[in-house]
Amino acid sequence: MTDAPALADQVIAGDRRALARAITLVESTRADHRGEAEALLEAVLPKTGGALRIGITGPPGVGKSTFIEAFGLKLIERGKRPAVLAVDPSSRRTGGSILGDKTRMAELAKRSEAFIRPSPSGVGSDGSGFGGVARRSRDVLLLCEAAGFDPILVETVGVGQSETAVAEMTDLFMLLLMPAAGDDLQGIKRGIMELADLILINKADGDLEASAGRTAADYAHALRLMQPRHRSWNAEVLRCSALTGAGIAEACAKVAAFGAALRESGELAAQRRDQAILSFNRELGLSIIDRLAEAPTLAQALRETERRVAEGTVTPAAAARDILARCLELR
Ligand code: GDP
Repeated sequence: MTDAPALADQVIAGDRRALARAITLVESTRADHRGEAEALLEAVLPKTGGALRIGITGPPGVGKSTFIEAFGLKLIERGKRPAVLAVDPSSRRTGGSILGDKTRMAELAKRSEAFIRPSPSGVGSDGSGFGGVARRSRDVLLLCEAAGFDPILVETVGVGQSETAVAEMTDLFMLLLMPAAGDDLQGIKRGIMELADLILINKADGDLEASAGRTAADYAHALRLMQPRHRSWNAEVLRCSALTGAGIAEACAKVAAFGAALRESGELAAQRRDQAILSFNRELGLSIIDRLAEAPTLAQALRETERRVAEGTVTPAAAARDILARCLELR
């Protein structure tokens, strides 16, 4: 048994080992850990909400980890205490990737002002799927906030599935891209561009510097044709080099300006309220599915209904209503 109130106090006091233990607890898929994890989260909740939450995405190889290291160190220079989390829909990261994170961000990992979340080993290995992974990431974010870290950087590790989930739990969404060889927009889906508050063209150094300028102009143009995501912020394109450090201070300044603008307008608070409601609704759906899996007769009905939905003999909406009705009868 974990003493949840005591652990919460240690987390709030900024005890890193307690934070690591708290994260392990909320990421646990063991049913008997759920209650303790919820007690812990409830106890830290009043100490959350103070950090700026930054989502970071980009294609593999664009330089996300190199950027996060440079950006994190710059934030520390400015007196900040960043935490880095990763959301990985593949759920295949094992114990080995703890080492991976450490070597990927070797300098940052050494700093006492920063916290790099140990890998979510085993999360989702019970087949809970991506919903389960994103679900725990939100809780881990809250724990880091309670421990006094600010900002919280949430990196997408998998490709193409986690962006929306990350955007739904962060304030600012940052998209990292590379200087393009041609004039294509690097196969970035429009939907992902629409989420971006800040686009960074990384690797703007050496031979790539000239094409970085063109790529930045192309994206700035593309952004102007899109619906702005925020009332109080227009998405911007910057160039940087995570390798040389060029443009990293400007990225920090933009992030600070974003935070100030959205706080000032009240949009930050409004967005977080919407996100909390959305998260509640998603959690409700997932909890119902969890419960169904626990009741043997319903689990069977669920599988049968899934088969009929797949065959096309019943619509997904009618099937969901039917299952819900059976759940309520059972109560
Ligand atoms: P990730 O897969 O997005 O996390 O990318 P990494 O951070 O692992 O970087 C992929 C490769 O790009 C590595 O070889 C880095 O050294 C290199 N890289 C990252 N940032 C830069 C940069 O700003 N300029 C240059 N020239 N190379 C970079």
